[in-house]
Amino acid sequence: MGKTMSTSRLKVDKARCEGHALCAQNAPDIFDIGDDDLAVWVEYPPEGTEKEVRAAIAACPRQAISLFEES
Ligand code: SF4
Repeated sequence: MGKTMSTSRLKVDKARCEGHALCAQNAPDIFDIGDDDLAVWVEYPPEGTEKEVRAAIAACPRQAISLFEES
């Protein structure tokens, strides 16, 4: 299987985000909608959440979510 999530860093481009909350629906442990009606998120998703993180990335209609490998 692929890399673990332990060094993966999650980022949302707030300039692209439109607050549709599809990320929060697909990965409720990782994403929420903040007071500004845009996504808030766990910057370092814990191991075991890769599947929901990937689902959220795929679901975002604005392609606003990206995942970086930090090494
Ligand atoms: S799905 Fe995308 S556009 Fe919608 S709230 Fe989440 S990051 Fe923002």
